[in-house]
Amino acid sequence: MEEVGTGLLDRLDAMQRVAASAPGGPLLIVAGPGTGKTRTLTHRIAYLCAELNVFPEQCLAITFTRRAAEELRHRLDGLLGPVAEDVTVGTFHSLGLAILRENAAAAGLPADFRIADDADRAAARAEAGDDPDRYTALLRKQDLVDLDELLTLPVALLKADKKLVRDYRERWRWIFVDEYQDVDAVQYDLLRLLSPADGNLCAIGDPDQAIYSFRGADVGYFLRFSQDFTDARLVRLNRNYRSSAPILAAAVQAIAPSSLVRGRRLDPARLDPEAPLVGRYPAASVADEADFVVRTIDELVGGLSHRSLDSGRIDGRSTTLSFSDIAVLYRTDAQAAPIVDALARANIPVQKRSHDRLRDRPGVTAIARELRHADGLDGSLPARVRLAGQVLAERFAVPTLDGAAAVRPEDVRTAVDLLTPLARRCGDDLGLFLSQLATGAEVDALDPRAEAVTLLTLHAAKGLEFPVVFLVGAEDGLLPLRWPGTEPDDDAVAEERRLFFVGLTRAQDRLYVSHAARRVRHGSERECRPSPFLDVIDAGLFERFGETEPRRPKDRQLRLI
Ligand code: ATP
Ligand code: MG
Repeated sequence: MEEVGTGLLDRLDAMQRVAASAPGGPLLIVAGPGTGKTRTLTHRIAYLCAELNVFPEQCLAITFTRRAAEELRHRLDGLLGPVAEDVTVGTFHSLGLAILRENAAAAGLPADFRIADDADRAAARAEAGDDPDRYTALLRKQDLVDLDELLTLPVALLKADKKLVRDYRERWRWIFVDEYQDVDAVQYDLLRLLSPADGNLCAIGDPDQAIYSFRGADVGYFLRFSQDFTDARLVRLNRNYRSSAPILAAAVQAIAPSSLVRGRRLDPARLDPEAPLVGRYPAASVADEADFVVRTIDELVGGLSHRSLDSGRIDGRSTTLSFSDIAVLYRTDAQAAPIVDALARANIPVQKRSHDRLRDRPGVTAIARELRHADGLDGSLPARVRLAGQVLAERFAVPTLDGAAAVRPEDVRTAVDLLTPLARRCGDDLGLFLSQLATGAEVDALDPRAEAVTLLTLHAAKGLEFPVVFLVGAEDGLLPLRWPGTEPDDDAVAEERRLFFVGLTRAQDRLYVSHAARRVRHGSERECRPSPFLDVIDAGLFERFGETEPRRPKDRQLRLI
C-alpha cells in the first residue's frame, strides 16, 4: 500500500493535483489521451477517503468496460488497501443490474431474474412478431430481462419513486465517471437521477475520443456539463505521459481538423531526442502488410531483447520487449484474419479481441447455457468452462435433423479460449460470470499479462496503452470507413478521425502506420489510397519503410550461392 496522507498526491503533477484535491461539487476533468485521467481519478478517491473523511462506501466509480473497472479496482487497492473493497466500481450495466436486483420486487421481477440470452430473445421474437409489448411480456413470463432493460428499468423505477432516489443519493454521495464523452441518453438519465445538479459528480473524459455514437453515445452531454450541473468546476490536464514526442506530435496534428476541445494542447512529458519517428509502411498488398508486421515484431522482440543486454535502456525505459508489449489495431474485425494467419505461421502467439458484445459471439451463449444446466458441478470455473466446451463440441459433432448444430466446433474452441481468462477472474462465482457474459464485451476478456501479441479493433483499444502499436489498414475507405455507394457525412468523418486519434495515442514508444495498395473489400479487390487523415501529418514525423530500393548485388550473389 502506498503512503496515505500528505504524500498521497506527490506522484501527481500540479494540474493532476488540483483535480484530485478539488473540493466537492460538480467537477469536469477535460483531458487528452495519456494525461493520467485514471491515475488522477484513483488518487482523487483515495485523497477524499484519507483526507476529507469520505467513506469508501459513499463512492461509486463507473467505467465503460469490465476491464477498465478491474484496472481501477486494482489501482485503488494499491492506494487505499483493503478498504478499497468498499468503493463500488463497475460498468453502467453492472450498476443497473445491482440496482435492479435490489429492487426486483418493485420492478415486478423475482430476485433471481436472469438476463435473456440470444436463444431466449430469438424465441420471444419469433412468438411476438412485431409487437414489442408482447415480446417483453414473453420474457417476463420466464423471469427474463433484456440487456437494454438493465438501464431502462432502473431509470423508470427511480423516476417513479422519489424516496428511492433519495436513498441512492444518500448512499453514493461521490460519483466518478470515466470516459464521460461516450455516455448515451439512458446512462445520462441514470446519472442525473443518482446525482443532484449540485452533487459531487466528477466526470472525466476527452471529447476528441468520442467514438461510440453508432451505439447511441452523444458527446453533447460532455460539452454541456456546466449547463447541467451547478457551478461546475473545470480542470484541464495537458501533459501527456504516455507517448514519445514524435508520436504525440503526429496525433495532435491528426486530430486538429476535427478537435472538439478549444485550444487543445498536449505537451509531451517525454522529451527524448533519440525517440524513433513514426514508421510508415506503404504495402503492396494485404499479405505484404501482414509480412511487414511479422517481420518488425520479430526484429523488435528478438533483436531488441538481445541488444538490450549491452545497451540496457533506450529513452529511459527498458528495451526488452515481449509479445505482450505489442498491439495491432485495425478499423474492422475482418482485417484481422491475414494478420492472425501471418503471425501463426511465424509461431507468434496472439490474443484477438473486438468491441463486440460477448453474447453476440458464436458459441458463447451455448457455453453459458451448458454451465447453467450443469450448475453444481465440481471443479473450478475455468475447468467447468472447458468441460462445457467439450460437451458442446461432442454434441455438435453429430449433426441433428433439425439443424440445431448451429454452433461450429471451432467457434466453441475460440469461445472457450476467450472465456477462460474471464472465468479465472470471477473466482468461483458462476452468477457473476454469467452476468459478465451477458453484459460484457469481448475486450473485457483481454489478459494484459498474456505472452501474446494483442489484436484489437480501434474501438476496443480505447483507454489502453502499449509500448509498440501497429495501426494497419490506414486507407481511404477504412479510415474513414465507407460502405459501397455511400459517402460518410461530415459528422461521420469527424468521428472516424477521432477513432484514428485514439489509435495513434495508444502507442508509448513505437508506432507503425501501414496501408495496402490493394485490398479485397465487399467481395472484390480494389485499389486503395492512403487515408486522407495521414495528409495532415507533417512528413518529417514519418520514417518511411519498404520504399522500393534496388537490391544490392551482394544479396543477389548470396542467393545465387
Ligand atoms: P486515455 O485518454 O487514453 O484513457 P488517460 O488520460 O486515462 O488516457 P492514463 O492511462 O491514466 O491516461 O495514463 C497514461 C500513462 O501515463 C500511464 O502509464 C500513467 O501511469 C502515466 N502517468 C500519468 N500521470 C503521470 C505522472 N504524473 N507521472 C508519471 N507518469 C504518469
Ligand atoms: Mg483512461
